[in-house]
Amino acid sequence: MSAKKILVTGAGGFIGHHLVKFLKQKGFWVRGVDIKAPEFEPTRADEFEFLDLRHLENCLAATRGIDEVYHLAADMGGIGYITAFHATIAKNNTLINVHMLEAARIQGVHRFLFSSSACVYPQYLQDRPDTQPLQEEDAWPADPEEGYGLEKLYMEKLCQYYREDFGLETRVVRFHNVYGPLGTYEGGREKAPAAICRKIALAKNGDEIEIWGDGQQTRSFLYIDDCIEGIYRIMEAGYPHPLNLGSEERVTINELVDLVAEIAGKQIRKRYDLTKPQGVRGRNSDNTKLRTVLGWAPQTPLREGLVPTYRWIEEQLRKAGRIP
Ligand code: NAD
Repeated sequence: MSAKKILVTGAGGFIGHHLVKFLKQKGFWVRGVDIKAPEFEPTRADEFEFLDLRHLENCLAATRGIDEVYHLAADMGGIGYITAFHATIAKNNTLINVHMLEAARIQGVHRFLFSSSACVYPQYLQDRPDTQPLQEEDAWPADPEEGYGLEKLYMEKLCQYYREDFGLETRVVRFHNVYGPLGTYEGGREKAPAAICRKIALAKNGDEIEIWGDGQQTRSFLYIDDCIEGIYRIMEAGYPHPLNLGSEERVTINELVDLVAEIAGKQIRKRYDLTKPQGVRGRNSDNTKLRTVLGWAPQTPLREGLVPTYRWIEEQLRKAGRIP
């Protein structure tokens, strides 16, 4: 049993909750912090505190006695949410992140992992479906996603400054579209894989579902188990610069829909809504650096990860009496 004390912020959220379970299985003592409890099952954290991390005094309380911080708390959601609320998201995340870093410094935390995003990458490199996979150094010269992405990019820099000036050991992980069971699947904050699973689970054989954009936009999707394994390995490794943590399996949204429909065993027709936000035209992760640093990279094929994801969303809808 390790005596190391770990804080997971955003422990009521999708990645944070999975990470708490993983760290507990490894035998660590874990404090979870969030403004809400995990939605779908109880936390496994040794302590779970409800704290609004936009305030420094709450960040100081969260980090007391802590050796390592996995900082996942953020005001975030899918493309619909992050394009609609630039000011609120940028303000909330700036307050959370600046105060968490400062609290970690004051409390003498040893390691601090910041969860950044593929949204930091320049829009000019993502304007075609078949665009080159993104390498870490592509982030500059900058032209990130407004609001959410720009704030993440600035925070990456702040992590660097705290490391250089104060000796705080920081890690920066750029997640690319994480999906899996226990993720938000409705309400406006859900991301494409969960939204498509929900729509197909609710549809009858032969029904039409709405797709945002023309479906030709491309993405890669990272299964939650790979994400958690990767975060842990990045925290353990001594590499302080930003690292992609994504899948290299690029698909169009149309292909994603076809995969889910096949898993569901349904014929699904697509109706395209070109007025809805679709984000960048093409995005994929280049994991060359990740492989070099960790000797490891995500392995779960999209089809394999979508099976438990679809089944879990279907089960939630069935339990709620929304499908037979
Ligand atoms: P999530 O929304 O499920 O979890 C974030 C958690 O932060 C939520 O439970 C939320 O309540 C909490 N939070 C928000 N404001 C807070 C506050 N003021 N004080 C305390 N807690 C607060 O999101 P997630 O998918 O688990 O993402 C975790 C991290 O990974 C975030 O930083 C996110 O930006 C980043 N990220 C995620 C993805 C992805 O595909 N899921 C992609 C890129 C980056």
